[in-house]
Amino acid sequence: MISLIVLVVYCLRVCQAFELGSEIQAINQEALSDSLLGKNASDSGRTVAIIGAGAAGSSAAFWIGKGRERLGVDVTADIYEAEGYIGGRSTVVYPYNSTQYVPVELGASIFVDVNKNMMRAAREFNLSLLHFEDNAEVNGVWDGEKFIVFLGGSRLSNWWNLLQVIRRYGWRSPKRTIDIVNGMIKSFLTLYTRDTPRWRTVAEASSRLNFTQFTEDTLSRYMEGKGVDRLWTHEVIEAATRVNYGQNADEINGLGGAVSMAADDASGVEGGNYQIFENFVNRSGATIFLNTPITSVKRSSSSLAQWEVSTAAGDAKTYDAVIIATPQTSSVRLSQPYNDTKSKRKFVHLHVTLIATTAERPSATFFNTPKPPKWILTTRENARNGGPEPEFNSLTYHETLVVEGKPTEYVVKIFSKERISDEWLNKAFDGQVGWVYRKEWDAYPYLLPRPDYSPVVLDQGLYHVNAFE
Ligand SMILES: Cc1cc2nc3c(=O)[nH]c(=O)nc-3n(C[C@H](O)[C@H](O)[C@H](O)COP(=O)(O)OP(=O)(O)OC[C@H]3O[C@@H](n4cnc5c(N)ncnc54)[C@H](O)[C@@H]3O)c2cc1C
Repeated sequence: MISLIVLVVYCLRVCQAFELGSEIQAINQEALSDSLLGKNASDSGRTVAIIGAGAAGSSAAFWIGKGRERLGVDVTADIYEAEGYIGGRSTVVYPYNSTQYVPVELGASIFVDVNKNMMRAAREFNLSLLHFEDNAEVNGVWDGEKFIVFLGGSRLSNWWNLLQVIRRYGWRSPKRTIDIVNGMIKSFLTLYTRDTPRWRTVAEASSRLNFTQFTEDTLSRYMEGKGVDRLWTHEVIEAATRVNYGQNADEINGLGGAVSMAADDASGVEGGNYQIFENFVNRSGATIFLNTPITSVKRSSSSLAQWEVSTAAGDAKTYDAVIIATPQTSSVRLSQPYNDTKSKRKFVHLHVTLIATTAERPSATFFNTPKPPKWILTTRENARNGGPEPEFNSLTYHETLVVEGKPTEYVVKIFSKERISDEWLNKAFDGQVGWVYRKEWDAYPYLLPRPDYSPVVLDQGLYHVNAFE
């Protein structure tokens, strides 16, 4: 599983500097760096406000800190975060609210080798990585009534499942999909090189990376155009888009589909991915204000070159530049005309249900099969043909909880569009449910086919980095 945000936010935004040692002047968003850091190192006394301390805001602070460190630019940054923690949609919870258990990711759980900045940050910050390839589980694709195909697994079952896949879909569609995904990754990796394409808008970046066609068509239509069998797209690739983005093949764009399939070498940070973002903030030299929601950003009345940032508590401060690093659904009010420019993209409202269960696998009765897999993905294909909708997007077994004197339990994560009831949980796990934790997220934007994007640079000194989320 991989998300577009780590692919795109991380790399389009800041990655060259991490990869190219001290050459931060090679950073792509020239407008951004010109204003924040100044074109020459003698500029002094610049102030920057960063709104939001998730992946976007924390990394912005980190790179501004690197600018100061490497170029000697006199720039100070304040970070305003509405919540009481760093990480945003990357955060953990403890089963039974007890630290005697391992923490469980509640939001973003994996990144992959080609997310070079994440990998390098984990290494440099001495964080241990968990490699998910190591515990290869069989994935079953559930259509709401039955399992239609099984994928992956340990070496022996892998071969059996591969044969089954070829029988159902042939070999051309899987092969073409691999080629498409590899092409996408190859293009994406150019962002880490010295001759990385220059860009000022998301559309320009997309075009330079040859992603335009990818983003203008739905996954279904894009794949059909590439000669990929419709059933393969709707059953297998859709299983990946539903777990990664909560979206189906006939709504999500082709890029979302390809990114969802680029899950090789998935990793996560032991103890929680949020630690990377905490390190970014702690090493940035910025001042962070937690529990401090920002309500508005407007031009300063005393100096038109500056921006006034106001908190919910009624405090206000002016800055030379403001980086808005919050999702587009966020509550920050901008003065006109910027509020209109800020895109109103809809986000997928996702229910995450975490449980601890003594059931070694989901209920055989409920799933009507003797040994249901521990990783269940879903397709909407049956519903397209008049069958029932699967009641969840994905159901996956994760951590094993072992405490002396207590039966072993397993943490299961369920993603769904609607709330999962206690009654449903009891049926799906034969009544063996202990801890239950529910969280609703505005998880990711609907990645609809769209040729235009809202601007990252709203004005001189005013940026909305999540515009390319
Ligand atoms: C359940 C789930 C699973 C996911 N799985 C993956 C995955 O496996 N891999 C992956 O790469 N991605 C995954 N994602 C997506 C990933 O979490 C996000 O894309 C990423 O965390 C976004 O980071 P961000 O900094 O842009 O936004 P956020 O993390 O949302 O950070 C924005 C921050 O701004 C703060 N904020 C908002 N409004 C204000 C305000 N007015 N004033 C001050 N602060 C404010 C918020 O509190 C938040 O801390 C997942 C997301 C979810 C919800």
